[in-house]
Amino acid sequence: MIREARVKCIVCPIGCEITVTLRNGEILSIKGNRCVRGAEYARQEVLEPKRMLITVIKVRGGSLPVVSVKTLKPIPKKLISKAIEALANLEVEAPIKVGDTVMKNLLDLGVDVVATRSVNSLRREESLQ
Ligand code: SF4
Repeated sequence: MIREARVKCIVCPIGCEITVTLRNGEILSIKGNRCVRGAEYARQEVLEPKRMLITVIKVRGGSLPVVSVKTLKPIPKKLISKAIEALANLEVEAPIKVGDTVMKNLLDLGVDVVATRSVNSLRREESLQ
């Protein structure tokens, strides 16, 4: 069975509209890309799409109840729900600094999760008042 998938390349601002033709799940052709980076992006987007995960996790003893976090690399789109579930059960101790690793090797994907903002410890804030 032959099918076509259309992908908008987001690698650069030009935003080429790329058409990927597949037969039985195998790529026959990639058209509409102006460069090789676009072809690679379209190939991955059709065969195994990946996304950066940005979410929040709970903080214990912090000036805020949660801290925003992100994966350091994109992860397979099909595992996003499972990854959110794994992070929903995580609670870290304040203080947290931007860039701190809050989870190593998320779902054994070899991708770490880091904080994207800082959260002070409540005790430290109280002592500063
Ligand atoms: S195919 Fe190349 S030129 Fe076109 S949007 Fe992607 S990166 Fe940019």
